[in-house]
Amino acid sequence: MITGLDAAAGATGPPTPGGYGLAMACSAAAVWDEGYLAYDFGEHPLNPVRLELTIRLARELGVLDRLELLAPRPADEAQLLTAHTGDYLAAVRAASLDPSFAGYGLGTDDDPVFPGMYDASALIAGGSAMAAGQVWDGRSEHAVNIAGGLHHAMPGFASGFCVFNDVVLAIRALLAAGAGKVAYVDIDVHHGDGVQAAFYDDPRVLTISLHQDPRTLFPGTGHPSELGRGAAQGTAVNIALPPGTDDAGWLRAFGAVVPSVVRAFGPDVLVTQCGCDTHHEDPLANLELSVDGQRTAIAALHALAHEAAHGKWVALGGGGYGVIRCVPRTWTHLLAEATGEPVAPETLVPPAWADYLRGRGIRGELPRTMGEGREPLLISWAPGGESWLDRSIGATRHAVFPLLGLDPDDPRD
Ligand SMILES: [Zn+2]
Ligand SMILES: [Zn+2]
Repeated sequence: MITGLDAAAGATGPPTPGGYGLAMACSAAAVWDEGYLAYDFGEHPLNPVRLELTIRLARELGVLDRLELLAPRPADEAQLLTAHTGDYLAAVRAASLDPSFAGYGLGTDDDPVFPGMYDASALIAGGSAMAAGQVWDGRSEHAVNIAGGLHHAMPGFASGFCVFNDVVLAIRALLAAGAGKVAYVDIDVHHGDGVQAAFYDDPRVLTISLHQDPRTLFPGTGHPSELGRGAAQGTAVNIALPPGTDDAGWLRAFGAVVPSVVRAFGPDVLVTQCGCDTHHEDPLANLELSVDGQRTAIAALHALAHEAAHGKWVALGGGGYGVIRCVPRTWTHLLAEATGEPVAPETLVPPAWADYLRGRGIRGELPRTMGEGREPLLISWAPGGESWLDRSIGATRHAVFPLLGLDPDDPRD
């Protein structure tokens, strides 16, 4: 059991170095296989080395020893058809064998074709479905698939580095297994458009995405006015953050919307996409979070799973293109957080990890500690702020809170 943002702000008990209290260990699994590294677009921002360096760092710090490690099985065709059209599956199969294939979003700069694309994508999707099953069946409280979170893939085409939408597959698996309500929170810097689209008409699935303002970043959707349709109105929630949003601003927006909405929805399980391309050094986007802000966000999601989703938490990866200085640290924090024993930010990065990077000829400044020396300020939201960020928060609250029986102007909601 963990106490998160609320408790950190209220300062219950002696704070840990991470700034949030820790009471007991959680049972957690990680789905991992070297086969994930075959999801490789070549010269491309989504370099699988980021996964390899994360696992290596987590192993050096002893985090993997506290997790049950599960080997993924590739999603079969029936599973993939819960998220994709038959035509599209055939196209991905064809593209796996034909380097000149173009169509269905494949063969583009964002989603170039590579040999074995179908199998590598199906393995990641199967891994996320496995993480969902692990948590739903109660074999562990939490399960993490850092290779997952490919949230842009659409039923009939690839998009934004994503071939198969493992998130949709995992949520459909939870629903098929008997979950009545699933909450999904997406903290990637880009809008979780593929997941939102899949469940836009489905009142059983709440999708919340915090992302850089869609007027300034791919995929151009994720406005506060996108709310879900018909009986599902109020189950799509979008928080559009101004470029430049930092740790304190991001956490203020999160705290102003996410806990209230998830509590009001009352899910049976929480699924999160933990993309870390919100980092200040990320080459593809313009938010300004530190590893410390990101680990605080992850701790808040963990706390929310315990508080509002019966402790059931399925955590997936996502974007993140600072492959040396950001992703390995932040997702090691994710893996550690799932065990209930976070890694303190002042922990030194193990020399063996740095030696490995130097051995691979990687130059440049390597991180020295597991944090960046920032202790994010946790300032609660209050109505009436005039900044771009406060107006964005207000827009989301006014759009969606009344649909959920919440008061957009009451900071206690
Ligand atoms: Zn836990
Ligand atoms: Zn992203």
